[in-house]
Amino acid sequence: MNQPNQMPKNEPEWKKKLTPEQYQVLREKGTEQPFSGKFYNSKEKGMYVCAACGNELFSSDTKFDSGTGWPSFDAPVAEGRVKLRPDTSHGMNRTEVICGQCGSHLGHLFDDGPATTGKRYCINSVCLDLKPKSE
Ligand code: FE
Repeated sequence: MNQPNQMPKNEPEWKKKLTPEQYQVLREKGTEQPFSGKFYNSKEKGMYVCAACGNELFSSDTKFDSGTGWPSFDAPVAEGRVKLRPDTSHGMNRTEVICGQCGSHLGHLFDDGPATTGKRYCINSVCLDLKPKSE
């Protein structure tokens, strides 16, 4: 996992570190095509971490099948792991979810989740890596 002091300091450094698809979503706030990512349908147990910096974001225990084609979670694994920002792009009022450590774009937060939190963290697969549970 990267320590904050190894974090890329500017966009050219991020571009070097990330794949073109990762860069487009994480740093340019793109959205991957639904049902295209590696995790939307995954039931594997473990910890989902930020693909840009390794910050632990979401436990597989909070992942649910939203039917949207993107990995969806009830809540981050701990407070501060993600940050929220208003996002009025594309003529919509949405809440952007960014990594609490590196500030990269992850996805959006909606208030139609099925769990007690009522939240649906809708996250791009390309922004995540899965650390499988070691058992
Ligand atoms: Fe990050």
